[in-house]
Formats: sequence, structure tokens, C-alpha cells
Amino acid sequence: MTGSPARTAPARHSAEGFRLGNEILAFRFVATLSERRAEPVERLATPERLRAWLAANELANELTAGEAAGRAAGEAPVSAALLEQARELREAIHRAGTAVAGGGLPEPADEELLNRWSARNRAHLVLSGGRARWRLPQADPVRAALAVIATDAVATLGGDDAIKRCEQPTCGGLFVDTSRGGRRRWCSMATCGNRMKKAAIKARASA
Ligand SMILES: [Zn+2]
Repeated sequence: MTGSPARTAPARHSAEGFRLGNEILAFRFVATLSERRAEPVERLATPERLRAWLAANELANELTAGEAAGRAAGEAPVSAALLEQARELREAIHRAGTAVAGGGLPEPADEELLNRWSARNRAHLVLSGGRARWRLPQADPVRAALAVIATDAVATLGGDDAIKRCEQPTCGGLFVDTSRGGRRRWCSMATCGNRMKKAAIKARASA
């Protein structure tokens, strides 16, 4: 059980270039800073990118035509301060997850930050066309979406699942290993798994 309605990523990659090939919502969020152990790539560079990521991860309300027009006309954009808070939440999830993956415990400050965010969870699950989706409150939906991510992180990090760190040397991403025998090594087959597979083929060819 996690705060995520389904353990399936919406798609491996989105049109916006996000890495979505991780089953765990909170860890997909962590992957918005990629290449963590080399030269990190920030995929949430602007407030608009945060909004696009949330939409790509089904954490935005579907708008009626009227609402969409209203939004285009007068909706306040995500503030730079809120983007900053989102990144702060993301890094707390990464630190806590890395600690758990290494057999340790999260820092109390990180637990506190995650708990503070999860306490703000005002979203609820609805069935829509036979599929579970998050319905966010009309007021402050972005903050509510971040709270859903924090809830997912709390459920994942505090549950019984095997949390692991990606073995692709530059990644630093996290994943839950549900494979039989616990043999999974990459955060996502679509990105790191493929990269390592190609590197192995190249190494064999040159040997
Ligand atoms: Zn990885």
C-alpha cells in the first residue's frame, strides 16, 4: 500500500522529457534530479516544469472547458517559493530513501519534513472510468499534490518493501525491488537499465 493509486508509471517518458519509468510516485519525483552522482540534471528548472511534471503523473485535476479557460485567463502560476519547497521535499525523500536503502534510518529532520507535508494531504481517491485517480482540492492543488507525494514516500519508506539504490554509477536514484529473488538493480529499465545493457554489450564487443 502506498499513497499512489496504482503501481504503474503513466508512461516511461513524457513529451516533456521527464523520467517516468519508476513504479513509485515518490521515487519518480526523486528522479526529477537525475545524474545525482555525476553532474546533476535539474528537470524542475521552473515552476511551469513542476506543474507539467505533476500533470504527467496524474496529479492535476482534469479541467472542464470552462475551468480551463478560467485557468488560462487568471490562475496564479506556481510561485518560485513553492518550487523551492517542492525541491526541498524531493531532497528529503532522496536522503531518507538513501538512508533506508543503506540499512539505516532517515534523519529526524527529514522524517519531520515528510510528516509535515503528509499532514497537508487533502486529496482523495476517486474512481474515474474504472481507474483510481487523485482528486485535488480546487484551492492550492499544487501543494496538495506535493502532499500526496509525501504520503507516498512515508508509506513506501516506512513499509516492508525492499528499497534499493540504483546501481547505474551516475544515477543515485531509488526504487522498490519487487522482483523474485530481489535481483533488480536499476531504478528504471527504460533509462539506467538500458544504459548499462548497452555499456555491457560495448564492453563485450571491444574485449
Ligand atoms: Zn538509475
